[in-house]
Amino acid sequence: MPPEQLIEASTPRYASVVLPIPVDQSFTYEIPEKFRGRVQVGYRVEVPFGRRNLNGVVVELALTSDVPRTRPIAGLQETFAPPNLLELANWIASYYGCSRGEAMQAVIPPSLKRAKVKPRPTGLLRIADDALRAAGEASDAYAAVQKKLSRAKKQLALLTELLSAGGEAPIPAILSEWGYARDVIDGLAKRGLVCIDAVEKVSPLESLESVVETLTPAQLDALTRIEQDISAREFRPSLIYGVTGSGKTEVYLRAIREVINRGGGCIVLVPEIGLLPQATARYRRAFGDLVAIIHSRLTGPERFDIWERIQQGEHRVVVGPRSAVFSPVQDLRLIVVDEEQDESYKQDDKPRYHARSVAMVRGKEEGLAVVLGSATPSAESLRLARDKRYQLLRLPDRVGGGAMPDIQIVDMREEESRGKVFSQHLIERLDETIKAGHQAIVFLNKRGHARYVQCGACGWLAMCVNCDVSLTFHRVDERLKCHLCGYERGVPTRCDKCNSRLLNYTGVGTQRVELDLRALFPGVGVLRMDADTTSGKEGHRKILEEFSTGQYPILLGTQMVTKGHHFPGVALVGVVSAEEGLNFPDFRSAERTFQQLTQVAGRSGRSGAGAVVIQTYSPDHAVFRHLVANDYDGFMDEELQVRRDLNYPPFARMVLAACSGTDAAVLGALMLEWAETAREMLGGRVAVLGPTPPLIPRVKNRFREHMLLKGPIRQADKDAVLGAFRRLTEKRRGARAVDLRWDVDPESFF
Ligand code: ADP
Ligand code: ZN
Ligand code: ZN
Repeated sequence: MPPEQLIEASTPRYASVVLPIPVDQSFTYEIPEKFRGRVQVGYRVEVPFGRRNLNGVVVELALTSDVPRTRPIAGLQETFAPPNLLELANWIASYYGCSRGEAMQAVIPPSLKRAKVKPRPTGLLRIADDALRAAGEASDAYAAVQKKLSRAKKQLALLTELLSAGGEAPIPAILSEWGYARDVIDGLAKRGLVCIDAVEKVSPLESLESVVETLTPAQLDALTRIEQDISAREFRPSLIYGVTGSGKTEVYLRAIREVINRGGGCIVLVPEIGLLPQATARYRRAFGDLVAIIHSRLTGPERFDIWERIQQGEHRVVVGPRSAVFSPVQDLRLIVVDEEQDESYKQDDKPRYHARSVAMVRGKEEGLAVVLGSATPSAESLRLARDKRYQLLRLPDRVGGGAMPDIQIVDMREEESRGKVFSQHLIERLDETIKAGHQAIVFLNKRGHARYVQCGACGWLAMCVNCDVSLTFHRVDERLKCHLCGYERGVPTRCDKCNSRLLNYTGVGTQRVELDLRALFPGVGVLRMDADTTSGKEGHRKILEEFSTGQYPILLGTQMVTKGHHFPGVALVGVVSAEEGLNFPDFRSAERTFQQLTQVAGRSGRSGAGAVVIQTYSPDHAVFRHLVANDYDGFMDEELQVRRDLNYPPFARMVLAACSGTDAAVLGALMLEWAETAREMLGGRVAVLGPTPPLIPRVKNRFREHMLLKGPIRQADKDAVLGAFRRLTEKRRGARAVDLRWDVDPESFF
């Protein structure tokens, strides 16, 4: 046989493709002449499916096929996922219970359109006045600029961000990561406040010189151990546990530098909100163009373009949100998960993966050092560290010995202003702060729309008899219900404990608090930040920018105010209705409340003495007792004991099966039968709770029912229960219209 024919005969003609549909099987397509020899395993292809075209991923090639009529591949994208990422997608599919095609969606960017790479703008934007640059936001020079730019808010915001980024930043970053339009830059330049230097790239080696000269002994110890893990090329997870300002980021930066010096690459995961330019500026400054920063303002093609650059080794450090864990970094050696307890690491849509877990699995497969970092680690990670499964690296003190903010708890049961939002104490502290020309943050600890019944006299709360959660008030049928087990009772007219009639059962909203604030402090500027005022991608950022310019004395908001920006002017943080977070029907509510309050407390007095005032009806709750003492360990001792006693994660695993359908009867019957089947299958080893309607029993005219698995759940258990659902929906009339959200290791029970 002539050699051409040999090659011809050994060139695959068929490709098995997985598709982003909830069917776990691959489909065979013919490779048309023009693509023959070019299609590889891991390539993204466009294929006809029914009457539409879908984006799939090639998982296998074959010379022949038994499938009678195969349709041809319609389009080919010559970027592929390397085998390690395909493996990771397979793990996600089986562990989280979705199809391989759905898992691939997360792993490989789905854009088939080639990035039109625009000529990249260049240059470095620098604050012209050296005095202003050096003195920062506390200076007279800044006050003068503030006045001058009082009508050019965007220019002021950019100048302020430049200041906090150290006085200069690359123009491409300002346009793309910071999201400013070119004319804002030009406006500042026209006023002579900034100059544009023709620096093409921040030279990585030069900028590797950090401003920090010597590490503290604790930092040095942590870094040394991480460096050992990196050179060992073995999977070695560790947890850096240290308060905000204890120098964790500095350790990450040095570990990354070490990896780069050895020719390797790194991934740094940060919470979604931590991707604000201020937070990523340090990575940019330290590693220049070696860093790729993945953020929500990137368009599909831009993201794809970055993906290719990462794969080609142009970017060796990737800083990004949870999806960055899939970056095809060359010679990956280290994954850092900063603020590892953050909820944004869990994906809400399919595939419902947790980036911290994926980082661990990838670390194990590829022999990486995986470093988790937090001031308030998740119960899961802290337990593993205490059990020595993770190396525990403690940074006990703030670098330079900065004081922790002073936290005061106001017992709302003793307040004369009972029933009002603000205690007298908080009003006085707010007044002082505003008069002194400082800024204050008022945090309304509110999650979702949970409403619960609480006694205004003694603080008693209507709780479930079976679970350690508050009962939720359902307006529809005026009953109190538990969302974990389904227990319910009528609404009491008197407190169970003290017999008082002072029962409240409405949550306080931000709008109401804003009105109160305006009435208490007429003429004082209040910025409100909640889901209503931050619609759109940019809303959140814009409000933070406005607040950071110092023109508004008060920022009021929900948990969005707890993270992200650094505001030097904030001297007081007030927390109203701390209960709302605590009483949320979720076994993690105490943990989350502690974490959030620590985070929001850390916003106060970054530059000077700061105060935190927390109003609560249950000052004796473990969260507040330990918060005042800055004692997260003490809190976790108690919390882990509770989790152990009640058999909750990290001592058990959970799967939430959330179903919805348009026909309540069909849904109800299906769920009952499914739960029954699951109980039989699991034989009491794993608890099957429910079915029970969730907090919001109907959404967009779809009825909802939840079932929860809890216990030592194994892969086989999940497969069996999920298989049972498929069989039941096949055979029941109308049941195929029931939608299932299968959430493994759920972070939210909504
Ligand atoms: P964290 O990430 O724990 O909040 P950072 O690494 O951001 O802490 O450090 C807090 C501040 O202290 C930063 O401004 C950092 O530059 C500075 N810093 C960190 N380590 C040192 C050190 N060894 N000596 C002096 N300053 C340091
Ligand atoms: Zn009472
Ligand atoms: Zn219950």
